[in-house]
Amino acid sequence: MTEAVEGHHFVARTLIGPTIETWGTGDQRARFLPGIEAAKQIWCQLFSEPGAGSDLASLATRAVRRDADHWTVTGQKVWSSFANLADYGMLLARTDPDKPKHAGITCFLLDMRARGVTVRPLRQLTGEEHFCEVFLDEVQVPDTDRLGPIDAGWRVALSTLSAERSGLSGTSDASGVSLAPVLAAARVNGTWQEPIMRDRLAGLLAMERALELTNQRAAKSRTDAGGSITKLAQSELSQRIAEIGFEIAGAHGAYCVADPLCPEAYALLDSRRLTIAGGTSEIQRTIIAERVLGLDREPDPDRGRPWRAVRRG
Ligand SMILES: Cc1cc2nc3c(=O)[nH]c(=O)nc-3n(C[C@H](O)[C@H](O)[C@H](O)COP(=O)(O)OP(=O)(O)OC[C@H]3O[C@@H](n4cnc5c(N)ncnc54)[C@H](O)[C@@H]3O)c2cc1C
Repeated sequence: MTEAVEGHHFVARTLIGPTIETWGTGDQRARFLPGIEAAKQIWCQLFSEPGAGSDLASLATRAVRRDADHWTVTGQKVWSSFANLADYGMLLARTDPDKPKHAGITCFLLDMRARGVTVRPLRQLTGEEHFCEVFLDEVQVPDTDRLGPIDAGWRVALSTLSAERSGLSGTSDASGVSLAPVLAAARVNGTWQEPIMRDRLAGLLAMERALELTNQRAAKSRTDAGGSITKLAQSELSQRIAEIGFEIAGAHGAYCVADPLCPEAYALLDSRRLTIAGGTSEIQRTIIAERVLGLDREPDPDRGRPWRAVRRG
C-alpha cells in the first residue's frame, strides 16, 4: 500500500471517508475506513468529465450491469487530483440513461489498479502534476464495491461535495495562502509605510478576520450552503492575498516567476485553482442565491427530461 502524504489526506479523509461512513455497508466501512484513517490509502475523486464539470449531473461515463455480481464501466474522467498515485477512486457513473440526469447515477469504489484503468497526469501552471485524466475501458467492478443504492449516486455525491466545500473553506491551511507572511514582507521592505498599500492590507486583514468568524458560525450551523459562503470567500480572499504578496515582492517576485521555489510567484500561480476546484465561484454564488437568499432557481430546460434525450456539448 502506498504511503500517503498531506495533500492526499484531504481527499481521503475529508471527502471520501465521511461519505463511506454515511453510505457504506458494514463490509465497506471495515475494508476502507481504517486505511483512510491511518493515511495508508490514497484516494481520488472521479467525478468531473470533459463534458461535465459545473453541470456534473450530465456525466456520461456508463456502468452497465454485467451479471448479478459485476458492473462494466466505460468512460473518461478529468481533473482527478492524485489519480496517478491513488489506490482507489470514488467514481460516479450513469446506470440508467432513461432517467433524468440526476436520477440515473450510481457511485462506485474503484480499484485504480483494475484492468482497463489508464491514468495520464496533466501539467499545471505551476509545473506540478497533481491532477490527471482517467480513461476507463470496460473496467469490471464488483457489485460489493457499489456505494449506496443503484441510481442514488447523486445523493451520495452531494455528501462528498458538501464535505469538499466545507473542507476547502476551513482555514488558510486549505488554500496554502495566508496574510501573515505578506504583512511581514511589507514591513521588511517598507511598502507597509505607503498609505494606499496599508489601506489595502488592512482591508484584507479585516476580511480574513471576518472569514474566521464566519467559519466558526458555519461550523455550528452545519448548513450545506454555509460551506458555499465560506468556500467562496476563502478562495477569493486567498487569490487577493497571493496577488498583493506578489506585488509587494516587486522586482524580486517578477524575476523569480519561473522558479517553482519562489514562494510569491508560486502562490500567485497556484491560487488560480482555488476559485475552480470544488465548484467554481459562479456556482457557489448560485447556490447561495438559491439556498440562502431564497431567490428563484436557475432555469434548467432539461429538468425532468431523460438524460438520453438531453443535448450535450
Ligand atoms: C485544482 C483542481 C482540482 C480538481 N480536482 C478534482 C478531482 O479530484 N476530481 C474531480 O472530479 N474534479 C476535480 N476538479 C474539477 C472541478 O470540479 C471542475 O473544474 C469544476 O467543477 C468546473 O468544471 P469545468 O472545469 O468543467 O468548468 P465548466 O463547468 O465548463 O465552467 C467553465 C466556466 O463557466 C462557468 N459556468 C458554468 N456553468 C455555469 C452556470 N450555470 N452559471 C454561471 N457560470 C457557469 C464556470 O463558473 C466557469 O467559469 C478539480 C479542479 C481543480 C482546478
